[in-house]
Amino acid sequence: MNRRTDSDTPRQPSQIAILRYLRIHGPAARIDIGSATGLSPATVTSLTADLMTQGLVQESQSANAQATGTGNGNGNGNANGNHGATRGRPKVLLDLVPNAACVIGVKITINLIEIALGNFKGEIEHSSEHSINTRDLDEAELIATLIKLIDRFIDKHKNFSARPPVGISIAVQGVCDSNSGEIIWSPALRQRNIALTKALSERFGGIVQMSNDANCIATAISQNTNLHRGGDFAVIMLGYGIGMGLVLNGSVYNGDFGTAAEFGHTKYQPDGPLCNCGRRGCLEAYIGDYAILRDARGIIDLPDANSLHPSEEQMMDLVARARGGNEDLADLFRHAGKVLGYGIANLIALLGPKQIFITGSGARAYDMMEPELMRGLSLAQVPELRRGPEIVHLAWDKDLALQGAIGQSLLRHDENMFQAAVAV
Ligand SMILES: [Zn+2]
Repeated sequence: MNRRTDSDTPRQPSQIAILRYLRIHGPAARIDIGSATGLSPATVTSLTADLMTQGLVQESQSANAQATGTGNGNGNGNANGNHGATRGRPKVLLDLVPNAACVIGVKITINLIEIALGNFKGEIEHSSEHSINTRDLDEAELIATLIKLIDRFIDKHKNFSARPPVGISIAVQGVCDSNSGEIIWSPALRQRNIALTKALSERFGGIVQMSNDANCIATAISQNTNLHRGGDFAVIMLGYGIGMGLVLNGSVYNGDFGTAAEFGHTKYQPDGPLCNCGRRGCLEAYIGDYAILRDARGIIDLPDANSLHPSEEQMMDLVARARGGNEDLADLFRHAGKVLGYGIANLIALLGPKQIFITGSGARAYDMMEPELMRGLSLAQVPELRRGPEIVHLAWDKDLALQGAIGQSLLRHDENMFQAAVAV
């Protein structure tokens, strides 16, 4: 019989599964780790002992001690469940050791470079923001700037971990090739095809990887059990442009060419308005901030400003005018909603994800877009395919991309740690 037994379970993948479980769920009892990973109690005990020896996992406070403490603090310690808790044998929880390793997350958006230090648990320990005219930088200047900023940042926070950062993960606004580590095109940069990860890897060593910001946000959501209900999902980022991160079978899907999923450049209408990518009729050319601002200029007189990158103030001004009764402007947002609805219908027909998150700074006008979005979706969708998914408007959190970049770096680090152990 070829039935696989627990003792056949390859040790490394199981150890990675335990690390990932703890990173996503926080402190957990061995029994819960076993239920979630499908490993037997004996295997969990043995593997976690290994991980503790390696300084990656530590025992945390017990669940019961926590419950009792809270109860006593409230003066209601003897009420209901706490009775049993105080009598029961304390349940030891395991947790990741925060400073077992650290990684660097970098986010490049128009005129802003952000750097963060993530601990082994995936939490941001420190971060810094740098206003830099990114569009003025050519390839060499961008690389030199990043090296200088990362160097200073690492030096400033070198006391956090005994070892240097084990990875750098870069989130870039625009189209990236995650396989080759090249920025193909970004609205933040005037130059195309920048081989970024190679240069940083040569300078810093370790794993340097890059993804577009939407893929990083997808990673962050996939690691948040309050948001992600399991299964495939997509996150659509509304903002200057329209991005998408796609998680299929538990992993961010980059496609064979490393450039998926460019939802914003799928087409709504042949020969439609000009998109920033140089083609016409893309979804982004209707929904992106620059497209809405451009169309608004045809409706109302707006002061000259940097239309390359509409500011939040400019966009909020348009939203306020639309809400204040300018129906022509409100129509722009409604139309953007309709176009998005058609795009989502295509996405559902192709992939049938379980959840679709809509977020990004451009979701500021989601309430105005939503009715037409739902109407567009309903008009475009094949009736037989109308089984979902759940469409979730997620309030914009600008740290999500950095959080996801850090998450991606740690995923790779886990794999590398145990692959290296195998090779020895
Ligand atoms: Zn386009």
